[in-house]
Amino acid sequence: MDVRVRYAPSPTGLQHIGGIRTALFNYFFAKANGGKFILRVEDTDRERYSDESLEDLYSTLDWLGIKWDEGPVVGGPYGPYIQSERFDIYRSYAEKLVEEGKAYYCFCTPERLEEVRKQQVESKSEYQGYDRHCAHLSDSEIKEYLRQGIKPVIRFRVPTEGKTTFHDILMGDISRRNRDISPDPILLKSDGFPTYHLANVVDDHLMHITHIMRAQEWIPSGPLHVLLYEAFGWEIPQYCHLPMVMGKDGQKLSKRHGSTAVRDFRAKGYLPEAIMNYVTLVGWSLDGSTEFFSKEDLEKRFTMEGIHKAPAVFDYKKLDWFNGQYIRQADDSRLAKLIAPYLQSAGYVSDPLTDDDARLIARIVPPVKERMKVLSDVVPLTAFLFEDKPVEDKGIYVAKGSDEEKTGIALSKGAAILIDGLRSGEEEASIEEKLAALSQELEIKVNGVFQPIRVAITNSTVSLPLFDSIRLLGIDETEKRLNRAIKLFEEN
Ligand code: GLU
Ligand code: ZN
Repeated sequence: MDVRVRYAPSPTGLQHIGGIRTALFNYFFAKANGGKFILRVEDTDRERYSDESLEDLYSTLDWLGIKWDEGPVVGGPYGPYIQSERFDIYRSYAEKLVEEGKAYYCFCTPERLEEVRKQQVESKSEYQGYDRHCAHLSDSEIKEYLRQGIKPVIRFRVPTEGKTTFHDILMGDISRRNRDISPDPILLKSDGFPTYHLANVVDDHLMHITHIMRAQEWIPSGPLHVLLYEAFGWEIPQYCHLPMVMGKDGQKLSKRHGSTAVRDFRAKGYLPEAIMNYVTLVGWSLDGSTEFFSKEDLEKRFTMEGIHKAPAVFDYKKLDWFNGQYIRQADDSRLAKLIAPYLQSAGYVSDPLTDDDARLIARIVPPVKERMKVLSDVVPLTAFLFEDKPVEDKGIYVAKGSDEEKTGIALSKGAAILIDGLRSGEEEASIEEKLAALSQELEIKVNGVFQPIRVAITNSTVSLPLFDSIRLLGIDETEKRLNRAIKLFEEN
């Protein structure tokens, strides 16, 4: 069997972690099995549709490096791949079911349906939903309604007896009593728009989809879809509903946990390979231990067996860790290009970059590369080079276990060791030893000496390694800032 899978998002919002997890699983499953990955745009909900979402879909997949074999833009043998361009197809299949008595026209007005609903609520009726009022209209009744110009919806005739079972590769058999399936759902609306169920089933069939991997929230639609496949006499694809994506608190991942839109992660400076690697591990593993996978690895090694049944946790900290790892592996020249926009929007360098800016950025990359979790960290890490905002709160200079007096001494004696050493070309290691000796003399930890020096030079407690900072800043400026801090501690 030639594997054919699809990612079928609705362009009603930005691509989020759960969505691209679905896309990645489908994509890797296709690649690993020599199959095809199809992109289908399910844009039948015109009220919630937005151009921005559609653009976001394309740009997100593009950023991740995910190419679809068939779909919008690239085309393919079973196109069009945008549902709003397939309305004639859906109508003809809905009509076919009507002809066979498996679906029927319903002429009920919204007012009538509302009245039915109200009465069901009032009478606390066990039966909820459409009352099948039009399920058995005679031909002449139908003709009369049509003559009056009333546009019907087409409803699917759900059996009232028996049960429907569908098989899910992960979850096993899932059964539902037919009477619990929503009574006679609409397939085609009166304006000719298909509902999700009709369009989804028709397209998966016409596009020869073999496996349906999608979010678990679609499980409740499974039995209805199976009934539709049976009504059409079509082969049912294999289902594999993916584990839920949760936050650390066990709740479904949402904005409450932090950003979920891929665009936001991109803006903060996550690398696509880090997102791809980590998101693929949310609910999947190869062997329970391997953590690092390149796109090429996953294209070869992804397996459906590795998908977990249990809900998966999306851990922001873990993603940060992955991102840091990938930043450290990245080429310096690539990083230089990637960090430039952050420095530009902070106003630290010009846009376009001057030659001096480019040279400075090239010098910044090696030290920041070791410290960044996300690319936007470059701004706080290098702010001291571009703007001088001295820390005036003495407490920030004072390390744990030290005090103001000792910090003042650490600064003045430490500055002398540092500046004299650097001016006379002393080895960094030797300067460090002397600073450590000073801390012993003062009976404080090493950091009791280093912290105030770092704060004095970089105006911050989060910064680059000391000697890297000094190299970037220059000895004269370093000395000036140290003297300023010494003065601060000499006052009162
Ligand atoms: N358009 C649906 C969604 O946005 C697709 C569900 C499915 O894959 O069947 O999730
Ligand atoms: Zn009706």
